[in-house]
Amino acid sequence: MAEKAKKSQAEELKKKLFYTKKHVSLIISDDEQKKADKYCEGYKKFLDEGKTEREASAEAVRMAEKAGFVPFDKKASYKAGDRVYLWNRRKAVIFAIIGKQPIENGVNLTAAHIDSPRLDLKQNPLYEADELGFFKTHYYGGIKKYQWTTIPMALHGVIVKADGTAVNVCIGEDENDPCFVVTDLLPHLADEQYKRPANKLITGEELNILIGSRPFKDDDISEKVKLNLMNILFEKYGIVEKDFLSAELECVPAFKARDIGFDRSLVGAYGQDDRVCAYTAFSAILDVKGTPDKTAVCVLTDKEETGSDGNTGLCSSYLKFFLYDLAENQGSDGRTVMTASRCLSADVNAGFDPTFPDGYERKNCAFVNDGIVVTKYTGARGKSGTSDANAEYVGLIHAMLDKNKVVWQTGELGKVDFGGGGTVAAYIANLNIDTIDVGVPVLSMHAPFEVTAKNDVYMAYKAFSAFYKMSE
Ligand code: MN
Ligand code: MN
Repeated sequence: MAEKAKKSQAEELKKKLFYTKKHVSLIISDDEQKKADKYCEGYKKFLDEGKTEREASAEAVRMAEKAGFVPFDKKASYKAGDRVYLWNRRKAVIFAIIGKQPIENGVNLTAAHIDSPRLDLKQNPLYEADELGFFKTHYYGGIKKYQWTTIPMALHGVIVKADGTAVNVCIGEDENDPCFVVTDLLPHLADEQYKRPANKLITGEELNILIGSRPFKDDDISEKVKLNLMNILFEKYGIVEKDFLSAELECVPAFKARDIGFDRSLVGAYGQDDRVCAYTAFSAILDVKGTPDKTAVCVLTDKEETGSDGNTGLCSSYLKFFLYDLAENQGSDGRTVMTASRCLSADVNAGFDPTFPDGYERKNCAFVNDGIVVTKYTGARGKSGTSDANAEYVGLIHAMLDKNKVVWQTGELGKVDFGGGGTVAAYIANLNIDTIDVGVPVLSMHAPFEVTAKNDVYMAYKAFSAFYKMSE
């Protein structure tokens, strides 16, 4: 008997002192599990509606307007509870709800990105080779190129014509639409291709998209397939070849978001990095009831996958200018507001993949279904390129998540010196804002079909909802 009592005392001590992770489904009630699953139906819809930064920001604006958000006018007078948004060049968008507290107490800011890896058309993309028509592409973001061949692709984007009119393009998503594809060599003839290193198995210049094969009926001219294709494009969009020079056309996987697994516990879809954090941070600000204590701000940004440069990326000043304008509008100044503000930089993290365990350090990586990941620092090679959140701020977020029963874990992106990656956290922290990375663990990140767990998506939503309510 004494032996057994001693053991249970040790067990209790262990329970009290040790940090252990647990599957979200073993922690939450059946009711909350149902809520989590239901929440992800809206998430999947958002993924299907917005496969590019333009479409995702437009869908977010549409939803926000329905919820009472109006375009921000720095000269208007806003009172607590008012909801505003600023759409930056139709590719990035900021939402805000004016809080009860004076704005010099700082804002609660979330930031996620809505651009995802894909194949962009080159400026002069159309050509014919051996009676097949193709588009040349320049891939966007970090991809394993071989993953992007032999899958159905859709074309999204905008063509601005010489007369200034813009034509929106979205083809390949509807079941009745045609789609497009990057071809690959048959295995029978691939002996030489197999000798290439894996990162060159398919090269950038081999990511050519097949778009047609029938000639224009005329025996006397060359490039008959290209002519026939250009003629179809002229009839459909009113464009001539030169108009491609002023177009932004993005080729993305044509499949829709779907449940994965017999238990339907996972979501498979294109572009979950980082629309999973975009949707959770954004839907949480939409769902804020009444007036938050502090002003709540959510930015959905562009260009993260290529380093955040450009005027729609977070290295530009558009977020800073908005915070300055909002501060002045509320009778304060930008630097006071930013210095007092705090941010959750919301971006996905690598979920542990048991099929490929070597890249991860088990004690410090994220697992799918163990909740939202809090990442103190990112970077590579000796924490290079990270903002590394202050312990005081990590502690504040730790307490906030626990208090609101958000299941969370910590996670570093892989083993030390195995690669690494960054987020927008550093650019926001550089504005003198307390910033930490949080996000959803993802399997097959940057692949055409990425995987997340519904439980983690829901925990991210819970975390952002609680964050906007922080009043201290
Ligand atoms: Mn990301
Ligand atoms: Mn990414």
